[in-house]
Amino acid sequence: MRGIHVTVSRDWTNWASTATAKPATIAAPTDVDGIVADVRTAAERGQRLKVPGSGHSFTGIAAPESGLLDLSGFRVPPVIDTTTKRVTVGSSTTLRELNAVLDANGLALANLGDIDAQTVAGATSTGTHGTGGALGGLATFIRGLTLVDGEGVVHEIGEDDPRLKAVALGLGALGVITTVTLQCVDAFALVADERPMPLDQAVAEFDALADQNDHVEFFWFPRAEQVLLKRNNRSGEAAPLSSFRRWLDDDFLSNSVFGAACRLGRAVPAMVPAVTAVSAKALSQRTYRDASHRVFCTPRRVRFVEMEYAVPREAFAEVFAALRAEASARRIVFPVEVRVAAADDLWLSTAHGRDSVYFAVHQFQGMPYREYFDAIEAIMRAADGRPHWGKMHWRSAEDLATTYPRFADFTALRDELDPARVFSNSYLDRVLGV
Ligand SMILES: Cc1cc2nc3c(=O)[nH]c(=O)nc-3n(C[C@H](O)[C@H](O)[C@H](O)COP(=O)(O)OP(=O)(O)OC[C@H]3O[C@@H](n4cnc5c(N)ncnc54)[C@H](O)[C@@H]3O)c2cc1C
Repeated sequence: MRGIHVTVSRDWTNWASTATAKPATIAAPTDVDGIVADVRTAAERGQRLKVPGSGHSFTGIAAPESGLLDLSGFRVPPVIDTTTKRVTVGSSTTLRELNAVLDANGLALANLGDIDAQTVAGATSTGTHGTGGALGGLATFIRGLTLVDGEGVVHEIGEDDPRLKAVALGLGALGVITTVTLQCVDAFALVADERPMPLDQAVAEFDALADQNDHVEFFWFPRAEQVLLKRNNRSGEAAPLSSFRRWLDDDFLSNSVFGAACRLGRAVPAMVPAVTAVSAKALSQRTYRDASHRVFCTPRRVRFVEMEYAVPREAFAEVFAALRAEASARRIVFPVEVRVAAADDLWLSTAHGRDSVYFAVHQFQGMPYREYFDAIEAIMRAADGRPHWGKMHWRSAEDLATTYPRFADFTALRDELDPARVFSNSYLDRVLGV
């Protein structure tokens, strides 16, 4: 069946309501021929065409400002090779769907981020990552993909093709990804250990903790003297959580009660210090064991805005000290999240060429954040920080080029694959150039 090109208008908004668009056209192809036809039509008309994933980026990276290519009806049955432990899936498959398929076949992704609502192509295209000093982000698991370029040409890009280092984390700027092949590992369980720790101890020991644990991160509420330290390891003894305890911790306390506390802080800003103090103290100890994806990913129903930066791991203590001073001086109801990742060789990866520590700052939806984020961005910029492509920041191509050694190679490949900028939008014009 060919793609259908309809000209209705439908407002598009991302998860955080920080980006909106009113696409003039919406196409919903259900197969590769349909995608090719829609790209060619857009190119002939000189129109732009954007493929949003689940809309979970905080930036306007996915905003369909002209044409929207809706791939939700483009479904490809997963192909699993249990010998090589590789899976090939359609690009619009969500991580939740992927995890279920892998689980049923005794496989898993080696690492995941905090949620599983994103699409495979959306998550990898922006450099989505979890935490783990020896592990890269999700795009580093890609071993091949199929891409329709800006002229409607289909490219099979395999493991040995040097372009894979760019298209695996391509910001949605190089073409429409139709299928992705991912390297998986045998399914594994994680023992989760979550406990409060004095902030000064967490800072002093963080580097060693990152080396000693498979996955480590901490959450710190601005002004609090303690953090919630989360360690996930592949071995250890613990029982699974009961479904009641999981609901109580991950849904009721982390979403319903925390959401109510945030609403109180938003309505009465003078209450923010009390709200964060109570929230920080409410972080309690628990240890449990479960399938890896159920430990990595938890529901996030409280809406927020976020900026996240990667800096070289050796800069952790200095950068955190500056962030702590800045965040403590403000009314912020949401915690700072600190994670790590291994260096990789993807051209636009925030961890390109350097072991990295990630600092994510958040604010509750509807509360002022810009001054806070600006102040944190200045700290990160001074530490040669690289912003997460899917999270808020105010950097542009000129200064991003200096922090990515392969930036010029990426833009040269963009000139080849999308010379007419069919896949661009305002955000991509800003961060990659027009
Ligand atoms: C609650 C929440 C929690 C989060 N947790 C984490 C986390 O733990 N770690 C982390 O690193 N990030 C995290 N993020 C950020 C999120 O993972 C990224 O922003 C991700 O890109 C969102 O995926 P998506 O499917 O929503 O893609 P979208 O945001 O919709 O799109 C992102 C980009 O991918 C492109 N794209 C999508 N599909 C295709 C395709 N088929 N072909 C070509 N390009 C395509 C889009 O055009 C766009 O350029 C979180 C976000 C939220 C809202």
